[in-house]
Amino acid sequence: MPLFRKKPVVIEAEQYKEYGKLVPGMCNSQACFIKVSNVPHVHTIHNNQIVLLEIGDWIIPESDGEHYYPIKNIEIDRLYDRVPKICPACGCGAPEPMHPGFLCLTCIRNP
Ligand SMILES: [Zn+2]
Ligand SMILES: [Zn+2]
Repeated sequence: MPLFRKKPVVIEAEQYKEYGKLVPGMCNSQACFIKVSNVPHVHTIHNNQIVLLEIGDWIIPESDGEHYYPIKNIEIDRLYDRVPKICPACGCGAPEPMHPGFLCLTCIRNP
């Protein structure tokens, strides 16, 4: 069999933490809610297949920007390295995840 190594790509993943709370990547279609009786899910790149979410799962975007797949919380640190986000004002690596373009807590407090 040929051998492959996954290319290093930085992704933004969101954790599904709470039932009823919509997370980026989670399907929000009314048509689907009827089909899978309102069970939280994502659509994968494999034939748009529905994968049900459980609390704690991380939702990972596919490179097509349309599809997602879930990863168990116990798997995320085994499969991925955490990448610190860099504050655009001071250049520090923020310990807490921030939204893109947001400042670190120090820069927010001392503008
Ligand atoms: Zn759906
Ligand atoms: Zn800063």
